[in-house]
Amino acid sequence: VADTFSALERSRIMALIRSGDTKPELLVRRLLFSLGYRYRLRPANLPGKPDIVLPSQKAAIFVHGCFWHLHGRCRGGRLPGSRIEYWGPKLIGNRERDRANRRRLARGGWRVLVIWECQAQDPKRLLAKVRTFLSERQHSA
Ligand SMILES: [Zn+2]
Repeated sequence: VADTFSALERSRIMALIRSGDTKPELLVRRLLFSLGYRYRLRPANLPGKPDIVLPSQKAAIFVHGCFWHLHGRCRGGRLPGSRIEYWGPKLIGNRERDRANRRRLARGGWRVLVIWECQAQDPKRLLAKVRTFLSERQHSA
């Protein structure tokens, strides 16, 4: 991952990480705040109620639990071995709904970033990802 942060930003980020709670949503919210972005949480008028929305950037961020949203490339996102007849349709349904929501947002001109719970294990990388997503806005649409 390219290091896109300045020295000042990097020291702020290290402070965020050291501040204890590494839940991805909180980390992302603190980063956005420290960079001067203003955001809203789970607006009911948008498809899927994205966890964090930056209206001025037309950017929506979902923070997904690997199990509930069936993260494809991770251990936490595997279908459970037992009661598959119950969990299978439920979790696959969640994933389908997530996809539909992302499509609806994109059709409405929103850019969407999905952050997976497992990515909080590498907070620096997580924050770099958010940063890249926000700085790419002028190249999309
Ligand atoms: Zn995962």
